[in-house]
Amino acid sequence: MLDQAQIDRLRRTDTGGYPVLSVYVNLQPGPESLRNLPARIKDLLSQAESSSEALPRSQRLSIRGDLQALSRDVGRFGADLGHGVAVFRSSGAGIDEQFALPGPVRDRAIVDAAPYIRPLEAMIEHYQRYCVAVIGRRFGSIFRFSMDQLDTWEEMRDEEIRKANYGGFSGYEEQRVRARADEMAARHYRHVAERLTELRRSDGGFDLLIVGGSDPHVAGLLEALPPDVAELSAGTFVIDPGTMTPATVLDHARRVAGEWEVQEEHRLIADLFEAAASGRMAVLGLEETCAAVNRHSVEVLYVQAERTTPGSTCVNCGRVTCEIGSTCSVCGGPLRSIPDVVDRLSESVRASGGRVRHVLNAGPLAEVEAGALLRYQDPMVDPT
Ligand SMILES: [Zn+2]
Repeated sequence: MLDQAQIDRLRRTDTGGYPVLSVYVNLQPGPESLRNLPARIKDLLSQAESSSEALPRSQRLSIRGDLQALSRDVGRFGADLGHGVAVFRSSGAGIDEQFALPGPVRDRAIVDAAPYIRPLEAMIEHYQRYCVAVIGRRFGSIFRFSMDQLDTWEEMRDEEIRKANYGGFSGYEEQRVRARADEMAARHYRHVAERLTELRRSDGGFDLLIVGGSDPHVAGLLEALPPDVAELSAGTFVIDPGTMTPATVLDHARRVAGEWEVQEEHRLIADLFEAAASGRMAVLGLEETCAAVNRHSVEVLYVQAERTTPGSTCVNCGRVTCEIGSTCSVCGGPLRSIPDVVDRLSESVRASGGRVRHVLNAGPLAEVEAGALLRYQDPMVDPT
């Protein structure tokens, strides 16, 4: 299964100056997608071939070797790989890696100086680790999912409350029995909350907590959570524990997490736009964002997933820009073209200790393509 360590390893691979061919293929079953798979792969590879024509001869030969190897081996993009597949190849640098993807991906083939890993990063961010607790009066089921798959499932049971024969009791007795039942339920919610807290604070942890069951029990459990666990709560759902399976629980969790993600992205982007409007601690727009990244002043980079814009890097001063041309407008050094400016910005922000957020849902960021929260205010240039 795809994980951050694999992505980091790929990012650190020494390419020895050879270009890397990165191919992403969508395998999500659909009326079209699988039937025409060989034709789609052929298209992608011929796109990659034409984009490598400008490379120096030794690099072009390396890419040609990769393209030929992949066209001979279309079978490796088989549907058994999940929803999508990513292949990274560089015969010159000795790279041949393949990853099954947990979700659908846009078809693309990119030739660049390094593996093109932005779609993998976006995927890791999107498929968070969910912890789902289904809670009843005296039992609790805790499921943990990562990358859209079940990791662990455990059950908890607290002692049964003895059935009371209310008929034989006075009103006072009946009240006492009810109070006792409430107390037992509260204790059960606390037990489940303690276990969730343990899981949250353990090595694996989780990113989102989703609680299912009938309303009173869900409310009871949420109330029993300590603040550091409660703050991960992404939402709740109603489910009949008698008929649930990990698959139905995951369906509910996906829906809740999807809604949470839309709202969370909406909130983050609203904050970004507000910061940009009210002061100088944020920038919007791809070229402005490039400038901030080049100054190493970006704390959080926000990019719209699935969008790529070609641009250049300066071989001399290292700046990343949307400019296309042969010389750097700042230092006059030679420019080298890159297939995706945002990918290079992401690498640069990570290298200087900042974070990158991929925004998946359409919204105002899509219009400006990228934006950033800055680490510090840029110094005033105006000498007065
Ligand atoms: Zn330059």
